[in-house]
Amino acid sequence: MEFDLTQEQRIFQDSVRGIAERHLAEGALERAHDARYPFDVAKLFAEHGLIGVTIPESDGGHGGTLMDAVLAIEQVALVCPRSADVIQSGNFGPLRTFAEYATSAQKEKYFAKLLAGEEIIALGMTEPDAGSAVTDLSTSARPDGTGFRINGGKVFTSNSQEANLFLVYVRFGPGVDGIGSVLIERGTEGFTLGKPAKYMNGEEWCSLHFDNAYVADEGVLLGPGGFRQQIAGFNAERTGNAARSLALGEFAFERAREHALLREQFGRLLCEFQGIQWKFADMRIKIDAARLLLYRAAVNADKGLPSAQETSIAKAFCNQAGFDLCNESMQVMGGTGYSAESLVEYCFRKCRGWQIAGGSNEMMRNRIAEGVFDRRFSQRPPRP
Ligand SMILES: Cc1cc2nc3c(=O)[nH]c(=O)nc-3n(C[C@H](O)[C@H](O)[C@H](O)COP(=O)(O)OP(=O)(O)OC[C@H]3O[C@@H](n4cnc5c(N)ncnc54)[C@H](O)[C@@H]3O)c2cc1C
Repeated sequence: MEFDLTQEQRIFQDSVRGIAERHLAEGALERAHDARYPFDVAKLFAEHGLIGVTIPESDGGHGGTLMDAVLAIEQVALVCPRSADVIQSGNFGPLRTFAEYATSAQKEKYFAKLLAGEEIIALGMTEPDAGSAVTDLSTSARPDGTGFRINGGKVFTSNSQEANLFLVYVRFGPGVDGIGSVLIERGTEGFTLGKPAKYMNGEEWCSLHFDNAYVADEGVLLGPGGFRQQIAGFNAERTGNAARSLALGEFAFERAREHALLREQFGRLLCEFQGIQWKFADMRIKIDAARLLLYRAAVNADKGLPSAQETSIAKAFCNQAGFDLCNESMQVMGGTGYSAESLVEYCFRKCRGWQIAGGSNEMMRNRIAEGVFDRRFSQRPPRP
């Protein structure tokens, strides 16, 4: 068993850190407080090969591993927390699901602009009555000629204001096997966006409304029966979510460490108080434990998709660790940490959201328990 990064990974890590320090250190605070998607950062990353890291070279990507993408998220987040979202949307999330299952014609049509950082793809999965119980989704796809009519609606779609392309989970028929997904372009007749709403982390989302919106057969990503594949693809999203939680927690930790080495109260540096030292000791333990779990999930995925069990464990732990790290760092930094000028309060707000997004803390634990007992536990009420 080897716990160190390879030389190649270290070189990659240093190079990403260098790019982030040169181009993103300045303006990190402004970016964090800007709800708009930073397309300038996306283009910069595309120029440096940081978009489509895990996508095969034959598709226009860089043929790297999930671990490479995780390293990239971490190194960017440690300099500019908001820019880590761009590594996420350029490598994980719906882009990765698209890369996994799109036809050559779909890739031909959309990949170039997505991988150039000029456009983004958003995910329409959650519905007002289907959150954690995602298989309850009711947005329907009914056959019409050589395509489908889409009716229904979605909520909480991140990047919905900027995305040109939407990967939308739909129901072709009853039951889990009736679920699949379609690709719908902004501007499609019958597809409208609701008024933007704001999350606690400052990002905005819109509801998506489909009123007989037409999608041709060529726009189907996964037909009926595609749900399990989609969720397998979603494990990559969860790895990115976990990586950002850990990295933002570590960002906050570093700011608090610097603060504790400089700030004096009662004639002593904060780091000289045992009550403060123990906070840092606990935080250090969390960082190391979270990183090992995250790297295990990423490395074991090699070039494929990560295991559901290892991803759930990594996500549950990293989400909690990231949140705790931000919370404790804010405490160590007192009023300075709580202030909107510190970026630590931003990291705190972001990490809070990841305990809900992409499968909540509780849903991750449900999945982990299934692995422990090696059986499925239905969350539905028992049948009479
Ligand atoms: C920052 C952020 C970004 C997001 N981005 C997107 C996006 O891009 N696209 C998209 O489609 N969605 C997105 N979402 C939505 C997200 O996927 C849902 O919020 C999430 O799945 C939870 O659904 P819900 O909010 O309806 O909560 P609910 O499902 O109503 O759950 C409420 C609470 O009950 C708990 N709970 C529910 N069922 C169980 C159970 N069986 N056992 C134990 N506890 C349970 C949950 O863990 C939660 O704490 C985003 C959410 C956030 C916060």
